[in-house]
Amino acid sequence: MGAKITRRDFLNGVALTVGAATVHGVVPPEMWAAAAVDLQSEAQNAPHYYPPAKTGLRGDHAGSFETMHKVRDRAFWNDAPKPVDTGESYDLVIVGGGISGLAAAHYFRKAAGDKARVLILENHDDFGGHAKRNEFSASSRTILGFGGTYSIESPAPYSPVSKALIEELGIDVPSYPKYVSKDLYRSLGMKPHIFFDKETFGADKLVINAAHSGGDESGLSDDASEAALREFLKDAPLTEKSKQDFQRLLTDEKDYFPGLSSAEKKARLARMSYAKYLTDTVNVSDEIVKLLQAFPHGLFGVGIDAVAAQDAWGLGLPGFSGLKLDPAPGKGMNRDCIRNDEAEKYFFHFPDGNASIARLLVRKLIPAAIPGKSATDVVLAKADYAKLDDPSSTIRIRLNSTAVKVNHRGDPASAKEVEVAYFTENKLKTVRAANCILACWHVVIPYIAQELPVAQKQALASAQKVPLLYNNVLVRNWSAFQKLGVSGVYAPGMYHTNVNLDIPVSIGGYECTKKPDEPIVVHMMKAACKPGRPAREQHKLGRIQLYTTTFETYERNIREQLSRMLGPGGFDPARDILEITVNRWPHGYAYEYNSLFDQFWLEGTETPCQVARKPFGRLAIANSDADAYAYTDCAIDQAYRAVQELKK
Ligand SMILES: Cc1cc2nc3c(=O)[nH]c(=O)nc-3n(C[C@H](O)[C@H](O)[C@H](O)COP(=O)(O)OP(=O)(O)OC[C@H]3O[C@@H](n4cnc5c(N)ncnc54)[C@H](O)[C@@H]3O)c2cc1C
Repeated sequence: MGAKITRRDFLNGVALTVGAATVHGVVPPEMWAAAAVDLQSEAQNAPHYYPPAKTGLRGDHAGSFETMHKVRDRAFWNDAPKPVDTGESYDLVIVGGGISGLAAAHYFRKAAGDKARVLILENHDDFGGHAKRNEFSASSRTILGFGGTYSIESPAPYSPVSKALIEELGIDVPSYPKYVSKDLYRSLGMKPHIFFDKETFGADKLVINAAHSGGDESGLSDDASEAALREFLKDAPLTEKSKQDFQRLLTDEKDYFPGLSSAEKKARLARMSYAKYLTDTVNVSDEIVKLLQAFPHGLFGVGIDAVAAQDAWGLGLPGFSGLKLDPAPGKGMNRDCIRNDEAEKYFFHFPDGNASIARLLVRKLIPAAIPGKSATDVVLAKADYAKLDDPSSTIRIRLNSTAVKVNHRGDPASAKEVEVAYFTENKLKTVRAANCILACWHVVIPYIAQELPVAQKQALASAQKVPLLYNNVLVRNWSAFQKLGVSGVYAPGMYHTNVNLDIPVSIGGYECTKKPDEPIVVHMMKAACKPGRPAREQHKLGRIQLYTTTFETYERNIREQLSRMLGPGGFDPARDILEITVNRWPHGYAYEYNSLFDQFWLEGTETPCQVARKPFGRLAIANSDADAYAYTDCAIDQAYRAVQELKK
């Protein structure tokens, strides 16, 4: 970013905005306050406005999506109020206040200088997008949870750009082991388990998870051993045939594709689902398929019916050792399934997940909004939301504001300005800017930036989002977990397929819970999918499911599941559940290309995201959708690229 800025956008924007305020309709600073009067009534400026502490239905909460859905359904413009011109003009308007939008503001200011004026519009009541902070209060302490983006991690190493930003924010990734109590649960005799449910497996039973091997990148450790496998096989409510199949699956050295080269085998595996491979090639029972079905939910939001066998091999799932595949990644492999040692070591989990990254970015952009100096003290720092959209600040974040229209003022090839209309608190308002970065979800863009070429709009619209639930349940204590010897549960047949005690991280004065009689956050994850259909279709149906499910239903499912799994340890949901925050993400992960359904990915031809992210006039496009890669480093890299494109 040290590059000199020579191009039109920055000249038109920054230099002229500040020096000659009347050029290109830019408002002189003395008028900013006038335009801001109305803004003082914004919800975010109200005393006690503090979204992280809200519980109930969060994630895509009520009020965040209705406007955009009306635009999608062509129901918005017919009865839209008359637009009010705020008179505001910026060097850059960013649509979307997730990590990508916040990073774009950071890079733009670096490139354009401290005087650059930037407005971020965000439709949620909080900034950070998927990187959402959940706060609870119990026994007069604040207890933190991650409502979405959970950690710094990526299948491939962070790029020099994203790594440099993490370092600039002061996050010392290698220091993570210092903060995590990695042996806490194990020292109390607690291990990962599988919950077999009676509807799927004939009996409700918790059994040690023998397949969970040797710890994970979060720093928590457990021992996968012969003894654990023996215990699993003894206790699992599976038929004898299924138990034999499972053992065979783990140990078999049979080459199921004799006569084929490694590349030919991989090509075949890339075109069949892992579920099909298990039943048709390895010949295991349906029970084993059901057992493994939800294993990839956390990565892709679908089960093994929609994950290629080649990807399952990359993930280390069993059944491939006899094929003697060459370890190099095969054509069409999902990037999540390609092992990389350097990337595996690059892991950091804050108690509120990557919301800490979002908060550090906001602190950099608007220092008055988040007190403190370090990447550790940010954990307990209380954000002052009234400072986010302060007229005296060059960078402003306007929440509860849905961008509904972005268009150039004149011919996009030569226009000097873009007008952005946004809907907030039943008012339609407009602002102008020399540049605009769309850091929002790609499926939204064709509706709001209608000037884009048809092919680009089609590519943008193909970026399905992966629907997920990340529920945080504050419980009075975790003694039932301890009594049962359970630190986390994989429950392939249940509503939530993964249930885990919080990762015990103490940092920046924040102390995690260390005693089983203290309150803790239990994290419950669900991927909303409909097995048996193509992945995109599953995501679409899952999204509808998440939007139409009521909080009462979510709550009932949480209570019932915890009661069934932990009841034998004395857990009583009526007594032990203190608070519930349902983080509903119908528009969750960026869709990652899949060799089962995306021919272009197998063939290595141009991908839809490459078409979707092309700059257009004064618009540039960011977000993790822009590289079809559901990771924070992608959100950062794409923000950087979008800013570079504005400079051209
Ligand atoms: C549940 C969950 C867990 C995850 N865990 C991890 C993890 O552990 N590690 C990791 O690296 N990644 C994780 N991810 C991936 C995550 O998507 C990225 O890491 C990153 O946070 C994405 O940032 P973004 O800015 O690209 O998108 P987002 O965070 O989605 O931000 C885009 C913002 O644009 C807003 N927007 C959309 N339309 C409009 C409009 N019309 N007007 C105004 N605003 C609009 C959206 O509401 C949203 O707030 C997770 C994602 C989810 C959903």
